[in-house]
Amino acid sequence: MPQQPLAQVPKDAQWYWQEHGSCREADPLLFFHPQNERGSSRARRDRAAKLVCAGCPVRMECADYAVRAREPYGVWGGLSEEEREHIYARLDSRHYPRSRGEGIKAAGDDFTEAVSPRTLGIA
Ligand code: SF4
Repeated sequence: MPQQPLAQVPKDAQWYWQEHGSCREADPLLFFHPQNERGSSRARRDRAAKLVCAGCPVRMECADYAVRAREPYGVWGGLSEEEREHIYARLDSRHYPRSRGEGIKAAGDDFTEAVSPRTLGIA
């Protein structure tokens, strides 16, 4: 389960879903890049984390939380840091998604595409 650095935890955040995350049995280091990791190493690690997320029964709850909290680090709900940055960049800070479900709505098609066979290189 990804840890929670620098997050702006939504007031209505609930954590029951974390008990069901597929990453509970995975290496936590898979979900966060080491300092200075770049290029193909980072892409491979992100992809391995995404593969875990792809089969996770609480992926939607996880991604919704991450977007609402504006999580800066790690793979959450199959969304990489870069993918979430793209989502954050198109949001209006005056109407930032804070209520449950608004994070997924804001992610839009990026949520599906994040773990699509094409993205994961298994198409
Ligand atoms: S979606 Fe990924 S990061 Fe989130 S709980 Fe599931 S396996 Fe863990």
